[in-house]
Amino acid sequence: GALPGWDRVEEIVREAHSRFSAERGGRVADYIPVLAEADPDLFGLAVIEVGGGLHDAGDARHPFSIQSISKMFVYALAIREHGHERVRDIVGVNNTGLAFNSVVALELNDGHPMNPMVNAGAIATTALMPGSTTAEQWERVREGLSAFAGRSLSLDGVVYASEAATNERNRALGWLLRSYGRLSGDPDEVVDVYTRQCALSVTAHDLAVMGATLADGGVNPVTGERVVSAEVCRDTLAVVASTGLYERSGDWLFEIGLPAKSGVAGGIVAVAPGKGAVAGFSPPLDDAGNSVRSQMAIGYLSRALGLNLFASA
Ligand code: GLN
Repeated sequence: GALPGWDRVEEIVREAHSRFSAERGGRVADYIPVLAEADPDLFGLAVIEVGGGLHDAGDARHPFSIQSISKMFVYALAIREHGHERVRDIVGVNNTGLAFNSVVALELNDGHPMNPMVNAGAIATTALMPGSTTAEQWERVREGLSAFAGRSLSLDGVVYASEAATNERNRALGWLLRSYGRLSGDPDEVVDVYTRQCALSVTAHDLAVMGATLADGGVNPVTGERVVSAEVCRDTLAVVASTGLYERSGDWLFEIGLPAKSGVAGGIVAVAPGKGAVAGFSPPLDDAGNSVRSQMAIGYLSRALGLNLFASA
């Protein structure tokens, strides 16, 4: 069925926000030094309907770094550029069952990155962005994600510097991919573009607009701009459903029934095709790196709004 009327959705979003405000589970990420300084009390929710209805609650306009949520949108841009088959062959679509930053999956699979939502696969995906220099590739990523958000996004320079100074593991993933012949170009440069994409500054409101663009067959419901095709949305959401919350993706799909992507700064966006998107922001994370409060609030919203894809009634 369709979403309830605007007033009812507004009421449900407010209820979700107040219901989980007192939740204290999880810990803020600290492997990227600057993220350890995040205020654990921040909590924002946003829902954007494909018809353009907007709902914000709490800290929905507070900026934070997009982190791994960028992977979903860069993946969509890569399919737009290279097509379904080529990207599937290069990056893969199967869950690793391992942590997002694991090197183990690469070693077990002849250097194949397995899927675009873990760091290895995301680095391989970023390498597919067009451009003859890394500056050009980065600008394509920034412009592409800005089109999804419906506003010009910019880099959080402090987050970028903090992660660039401590991303030995991602550089190792880049070089491992290269050692298996699965990455052309300079791994350090590709990883630099990837590190920048993760440091793009967004809000929960932005994430909901970005997700709603995927829910709306690729048309941004706020600006009316076509960003990607409906086929690209379908492919992106299918892979996100099985991989977006890393090794917890199965639990999430079983309980909530929506494709969702998380980032270590505390954002999560869940997409209900044909209906809209729900985004949460709250820095404390579970041990897979997924925001605790965002998961709870989005779960509540999925149930209250009737969004579970597998529910026939
Ligand atoms: N930039 C982070 C990293 O590469 C993103 C990880 C995440 O959000 N899970 O480690």
